[in-house]
Amino acid sequence: MKMVTDLFGSLVFDDRVMKSRLSAKVYESLRKTIDEGAELNLSVANAVAEAMKEWAVENGATHYTHWFQPLTGITAEKHDSFISPSPDGRVIMDFSGKELIKGEPDASSFPSGGLRATFEARGYTAWDPTSYSFIKGKTLCIPTAFCSYGGEALDKKTPLLRSMEALNRQALRILKLFGTEAKYVHTSVGPEQEYFLVPKELFEKRKDLIYTGRTLFGAKPPKGQEMDDHYFGVIKPSVESFMTELNEELWKLGILAKTQHNEVAPAQHELAPIYTTTNIATDHNQLTMEIMQKVAARHGLVCLLHEKPFAGVNGSGKHNNWSMATDKGVNLLSPGETPYENAQFLLFLCSVIKAVDDYQDLLRISVATAGNDHRLGANEAPPAVVSMFLGDELNAVLEAIETDAPYTGAEKTQMKLGVDVLPKFNRDTTDRNRTSPFAFTGNKFEFRMLGSSNSIACANIMLNAAVAESLKIYADRLEKAEDFETELHNMIRKTIKDHKRIIFNGNGYDDEWIREATEKRGLMNLRTTPDALPHLLDKKNVDMLTTHKVFSEAELKSRCDITLENYCKTVVIEANTMVEMVNKEILPAIENYAAHLAEGANKKKALLSSAEDTYETEIVAKLSKLANQIYEYKKALSAELVRLGDSESIIDEGYRIRDNVLPRMSELRASCDEAEMITAESFWPFPTYGELLFGVR
Ligand code: ADP
Ligand code: MG
Repeated sequence: MKMVTDLFGSLVFDDRVMKSRLSAKVYESLRKTIDEGAELNLSVANAVAEAMKEWAVENGATHYTHWFQPLTGITAEKHDSFISPSPDGRVIMDFSGKELIKGEPDASSFPSGGLRATFEARGYTAWDPTSYSFIKGKTLCIPTAFCSYGGEALDKKTPLLRSMEALNRQALRILKLFGTEAKYVHTSVGPEQEYFLVPKELFEKRKDLIYTGRTLFGAKPPKGQEMDDHYFGVIKPSVESFMTELNEELWKLGILAKTQHNEVAPAQHELAPIYTTTNIATDHNQLTMEIMQKVAARHGLVCLLHEKPFAGVNGSGKHNNWSMATDKGVNLLSPGETPYENAQFLLFLCSVIKAVDDYQDLLRISVATAGNDHRLGANEAPPAVVSMFLGDELNAVLEAIETDAPYTGAEKTQMKLGVDVLPKFNRDTTDRNRTSPFAFTGNKFEFRMLGSSNSIACANIMLNAAVAESLKIYADRLEKAEDFETELHNMIRKTIKDHKRIIFNGNGYDDEWIREATEKRGLMNLRTTPDALPHLLDKKNVDMLTTHKVFSEAELKSRCDITLENYCKTVVIEANTMVEMVNKEILPAIENYAAHLAEGANKKKALLSSAEDTYETEIVAKLSKLANQIYEYKKALSAELVRLGDSESIIDEGYRIRDNVLPRMSELRASCDEAEMITAESFWPFPTYGELLFGVR
C-alpha cells in the first residue's frame, strides 16, 4: 500500500495539481474565482478544462460528469466520454471550457415541486469551482450547481452557496466595526456520520430492508444495547477491513476521514472527518455516504444509512459541528485572548443564540424526514424541541452580563462588556451534554438533530441564513451607533434577555423539559414532518430567506411540497411493503407453523393416545388468534392507503399519514412481532433481529 500521505488527494484536481499544471496567470485567475467569487473568463476556463482533462486521462478517466445534488437528497451524474472524432477516423480526447462551465442534463425526472414545467424540462448545471473536481472510477466528476432556465435552484448546493455568501456579507460588516482584518468569512463543518453494517446475504432476504432501508418487522432479541458493550468496543475483523478500505477510498478523494468507532447500538458505527468549508464538507459527506455503501458491498456487507433501521436500539444521526472563520483562520466562535476579542466572540455567540431562537422552526424543518421523525424525541436523539446548551461557565458569564451583576466564575469581576473588564473564561469541559440539540463545545456548535441520511446542506443553509440575519440586525445598529462600546454592550444584553429561553443546560430527554419548554418558555415542539413543514412558508421565514437571497418564494414553496411529497411517498412505500410481507410471507409462515404443530400433535396422538398436547394446542390457539388480528390490521392499513387518494392537498395527505397510516403500521407490526416470538426460527420467513444485529463476525 502507498503511504497515506501519497494516497491522500491523489484523485483530486486540487490546489497542488492546479499549481503544477496551470500557467501562473491561469492559476491566479482561477484562485481569485475560488476565493473571492471573481468572474471566470472563457480563456481561463479553456485552459483549466484542458489541464483537467489531461490530468484525468493520465489517471485513467475516460468520461466526465457534472456531479450535482438534486432535491432527491442523493447525488446525480450523467457521464459523457471525452472522445471526439478526428479527421483520420480515429478519436481524440477532448474537453472544452464550455463543457466544464455548463452542462444541460435532461432533468425532467428530478423533483422540482412545480418550478419547471415538463415542456421546459431542461435545467442546467454550472461548475462550482470552490469544490475540487475528482475522479470516481473512470469518470472525472465536476461539482456543479443545478438550476432551471429561469434561474431557480433545483438543488441543495445553490442555496447553500447563497447562504454562505449571505453570512459572509454580514460577518464582514461586523468585523470591520471591530477593526478585525478579513477578506472573507466562511463557515466550516465537520459532520460525524453514523451507520449500520449488516451481512449482505441477510439483507437480501428482507424486503423491508431492500425497499425501505429499515426493518418494518422484527421482535426484540434477548439482547440489545443494554450492556453498553458495543460503544467504543473492539472493532470486529470484517468491519475493520471495511473501515480500512473505506478510509483509503476517502483519502484518495481528499476527504479527511479521521475518527472511527463502534457506536451505541450493536452493528452501529461512526465516521468523523476533520472539518472543512461547509460547501466542501457537504460534497464530501455525500461522497462518503456513497462510498460507504460501495465499499460495504465489496466486503459482503450492506451499509444502512437509514435513521431508524431497527426498533428498540438507537438509530443513526449526524452531528453537524459548525463554526465561522475568517480567511486568516481566526475562528469567530473561539473565545479570544483579549477582552476586545472576547467582546467580538460574544457578539458572534449572541448572533447564533438569537438565530436559533428566532428560527427554531427552520432548523427543525431542515432535518425533517419520515426517517428522522422516528428518532427525534425518542430518548436516543435530541427532542423535536430546539434548545441550546452553553455550559455552566459561559452561561454564568451571560447571566452576569444580563443582570450587570458581578461574575462569580473563576475570577470575580464586574461584567461591563467594554474594553478592559471582560473576564477570561474557559471552554466548558465538565458537562458533555449529549441530550442537547444544539450544543456549544468550546469553539463550535454541534447541531445534533440531523438524520444519518440527511444531506447536511439543508441544516447549514438554514443555520447560515439565520445567523446572517442576526448579524445584519447587529451591523445595522452598530454602524449607526454613536458610542460603539455602549451599543455593543446593550445589544449583547438585549439578546441574552430576549433569547435566554432557548438556553437549556439540563437533560433534554426529560419529559419535564418538554413541558417546561412548550408551556413556560413557549418553544416550538414540531414533532413530525407534517407538523414542521408548513412553517417553512411562515411570513417571518419567507421574509428572512428572501431578504438574504437564499431562496425565492417560489423555491420555498417548491421545497415545502417536495419534502412533504417525499415524506408521504416514503411512508406509503413502507406501508405497501408491510402489506406485501404480511400477505406473502408472514401469514403463510404462521399458517405453516400452526399446521405443522397441529399435524405433530395428531401424529403423536395416533401413536400414543395419552400423549399431552397442551403445548401444541396453546401455541396453535395463540397463532390463529394473532393471524386473524394481523389479517384485520392489514386490511385496516390497506383501507387507509386507499383513503389517501381522497386527500385534498399534499399537507392533508401528510396529516392523514401521520394520524391514520403510521398508527395502523405500528399495530400491525406489534402483532407480527408477537407471532415471531412464538414461531420456530426455521419457519420464520426472513432473518431475525438477532441475526441481523449480531451476525457480523
Ligand atoms: P467530539 O465531538 O467527539 O468531541 P471533536 O471535538 O474532535 O469530537 O470534533 C468533532 C468534529 O468537529 C470533527 O469533525 C471536527 O473536525 C469538528 N470540528 C472541530 N473544530 C471545528 C470547527 N472550528 N468548525 C467546525 N467543525 C469543527
Ligand atoms: Mg461530537
